[in-house]
Amino acid sequence: MTASARLLIVGPQGSGKGTQGVRIAESYGIPVVSTGDMFRANIKQGTPLGLQVTEILDRGDLVPDELTSEIVRDRLSQDDAANGFLLDGYPRNTTQVGHLDAFLAEHGQALDAVILLDVPREESIARLTLRATEQGRSDDTDEAIAHRLDIYEHETAPIIDLYSAKGIVDRIDGVGSLDEITERVLAALAVRGLRLAA
Ligand code: AMP
Repeated sequence: MTASARLLIVGPQGSGKGTQGVRIAESYGIPVVSTGDMFRANIKQGTPLGLQVTEILDRGDLVPDELTSEIVRDRLSQDDAANGFLLDGYPRNTTQVGHLDAFLAEHGQALDAVILLDVPREESIARLTLRATEQGRSDDTDEAIAHRLDIYEHETAPIIDLYSAKGIVDRIDGVGSLDEITERVLAALAVRGLRLAA
């Protein structure tokens, strides 16, 4: 049996959404669609897109909406996303929500659930600073971290209201062990009738 689930995971940088996203997507047998990963892969390979977005990522700013949405539309049109996907890092503002809604509606689809990982700002900063020393990501400087968290609070948090109005947001406590948090998410999705792949 193939599970079908169209999911979005949202949370501030350092909330663990990347790690949890991979675990949840694996449980459902669906691909993770992470715009941050796609941009970083293009930068690493030196593609024209990568060259275009390098400085934007280093500053911690957002890549223009149209460009980002086009990349996501292309990705979601691939065969492996036909039965479901887990979006990580997109949509990141209300304009992108409009773009995604329009794309999904064209295909007779909609998001099934939005997983909101709740982590206090101090905890996010502590985790990001640790990651900066461990992984050396070029956008993990103190300044870029603070800037990304500000963008999250001002531009990304408002998308939660849009999805809450549709009744599809599951707010999950993002503090705890990796396994505990995964369990919380899977339990919330099960309540929505989203079954795991057999
Ligand atoms: P992330 O890995 O999700 O933290 O994303 C890393 C960086 O990629 C962000 O700081 C932005 O510069 C860029 N980015 C990722 N997703 C988006 C998006 N949906 N819209 C615009 N920029 C994005």
